[in-house]
Amino acid sequence: MPAPSKPLPGACESLDAARLAAELVQLRRQVVQLQRISSLGVLAGSIVHELNNALTPILNYAKLGLRSQDPAFRTKAFEKILEGAERASAVANGVLGLVRPRADRLEPADLARLAEDVVRLTAKDLEKHRIQLDLVIHDRPSVLVHAAQIQQVLLNLLINARQAMPEGGRITLEAGRDPTGRWAEIRVRDTGPGISPAHLRRIFEPFFTTKAPDPNGLGGTGLGLPVCREIVEAHKGRLRVESRPGQGATFTLRLPVAPAATASRSPTR
Ligand code: ADP
Repeated sequence: MPAPSKPLPGACESLDAARLAAELVQLRRQVVQLQRISSLGVLAGSIVHELNNALTPILNYAKLGLRSQDPAFRTKAFEKILEGAERASAVANGVLGLVRPRADRLEPADLARLAEDVVRLTAKDLEKHRIQLDLVIHDRPSVLVHAAQIQQVLLNLLINARQAMPEGGRITLEAGRDPTGRWAEIRVRDTGPGISPAHLRRIFEPFFTTKAPDPNGLGGTGLGLPVCREIVEAHKGRLRVESRPGQGATFTLRLPVAPAATASRSPTR
């Protein structure tokens, strides 16, 4: 009788390697997802507060409108209700877009618009921490992206900047193009303490953090920037940082401008 055939040792090794590679891809996806949820966790209180602010005029004007017999006042009440509902819906959609990204493929997006959506989500949190945010839109380049992932990067950069300035300060977020016009660019500049050269070399290393652990689990994990860089490089972009101690930090995110838009638009800066 012929002996049962055994898999060749080389075949086993390559099967194992393929399985490990697939597991690694899966684990990386989970880290990206968890990091996104953790950023949203930092903002959760402020987001709920913002939703509540939008709901208050809805409730009040609905009650007043029901009591009033004046058609002009009722119309005004409906307008206020609609305004509040639109605000609440924009905040809820922003959160949902990040928690459950719509597509698993690249889609054209206006980079400045992505920044505006993230600013809407973070505005209350920054205000609470006495941080002034200036959003400067130089241009609205179109990019091919997983929108939720790029928003995750921006969210992370804003949260890091805010955490670097516990006494308050200023963040300037600029959206536009680089001087060649081929790269869409976002800069996040803060007036915090900056980053020492020794730390600057390490901040993109997984698990490097200077933040103390906190009891709510919102302390540093050291995964924010490595995940950001991985996301940006997967989009064929670049994420770099410039900083001098005492002079704040500037993170620059560059993504290739979507091909159709490159030819038709001229650089603005
Ligand atoms: P985490 O926020 O969990 O520490 P990150 O990878 O996002 O992880 O950041 C790594 C480290 O980079 C931070 O602990 C901090 O020391 C430094 N860092 C990031 N952004 C800034 C900033 N805007 N100003 C000063 N330091 C920063």
